[in-house]
Amino acid sequence: MKHRTHCKRGHKFTAANEIWFIDVNGKDQRTCRKCYNHRRNVSYKIKYRSDEEFRKKEKARVAALREKRIKQCVSSVSVENATAT
Ligand SMILES: [Zn+2]
Repeated sequence: MKHRTHCKRGHKFTAANEIWFIDVNGKDQRTCRKCYNHRRNVSYKIKYRSDEEFRKKEKARVAALREKRIKQCVSSVSVENATAT
């Protein structure tokens, strides 16, 4: 394996910025601390945000459905009234 000086995202590998770990195959692997932290932050944020967004979307969806139903109800009533008179 080629000894890289930069990670695939272009961060320089330094003693302070590299993390060594053993992968599932028992091989020494090196990763960039910045990428590692970034991944952790991103996965946390995505999870957190998706939960928050899901709740927001669900709320908006329910509100939209309710509004649609009211509109349909109102229009069907007015149509009934129009045909009745
Ligand atoms: Zn990196």
